[in-house]
Amino acid sequence: MRIIKTESIIDVVKDMCIKANIHLSQDMEDTIRKAAAEEDSKLGRQIMNQLCDNLDIAARDEIAICQDTGMAVFFVNIGQDVHLEGMNITDAINEGVRRGYKEGYLRKSVVSDPLLRVNTNDNTPAIIHYDIVPGDKLEITIAPKGFGSENMSRVFMLKPADGEEGVKEAIVKAVMEAGPNACPPVFVGVGLGGDFELSAELAKKALTRKAGEHSKLPHIARIEEEVLDTINKSGIGPGGLGGKTTALAVNIETYATHIAGMPLAVNMCCHVNRHVTVVI
Ligand code: SF4
Repeated sequence: MRIIKTESIIDVVKDMCIKANIHLSQDMEDTIRKAAAEEDSKLGRQIMNQLCDNLDIAARDEIAICQDTGMAVFFVNIGQDVHLEGMNITDAINEGVRRGYKEGYLRKSVVSDPLLRVNTNDNTPAIIHYDIVPGDKLEITIAPKGFGSENMSRVFMLKPADGEEGVKEAIVKAVMEAGPNACPPVFVGVGLGGDFELSAELAKKALTRKAGEHSKLPHIARIEEEVLDTINKSGIGPGGLGGKTTALAVNIETYATHIAGMPLAVNMCCHVNRHVTVVI
């Protein structure tokens, strides 16, 4: 049994909030720069180059890549041989978010009530997904999520008879309906299977996959490639202004499901696909 003092998580989370909002991971950055070099449309290439310049400026001046610094979404894997000691882990994570968004001068984008809409002024509460896993480590991933793209996300309760074609059509439909609103080029996170809420969680988790990686399931990896190809033939392009770079990846995570259903969630993410992982 390994003891981890939850107070020690606060500063780790604070730094993760700041880092995630200022620097894209190298794999994400490389993907964007490669797409910029390969875009055929003149206007599309201009937009892509502006996105690259924006990344450079954010890193140089230590400022957020985008004004929408998102809701702080976390995936936390707790090793079953870890004993968390001290304050409640959820409170520790929220305290880290509070400090990170304040000290990093990151926009506070959270309201305490969906209808009354009073800003909490510290970007809390975070959205935290916990998993118990083997081992004695604590793995924390932050994925700050902007809502331009979040608002264009969809859940489709497909029927088994919809099959592979139904899955492909639904993903493409979500991206086409999002058009320029999701700030393309986008990353498309897909959760296929499970139930209503698990499909949505899988879709969000799919966005944290390393750029360039495909599903380990050959039939799913094939669908990822085919759907990406279809989306990029749509001509929506960077910023919705035309070009072949509409999506940078389609990542599909799957789970077992019920004989009567085939839930499919599409979580749209703009090119600012931020995430940082720390293992304690
Ligand atoms: S969708 Fe992404 S790029 Fe667009 S405003 Fe939100 S965080 Fe920024």
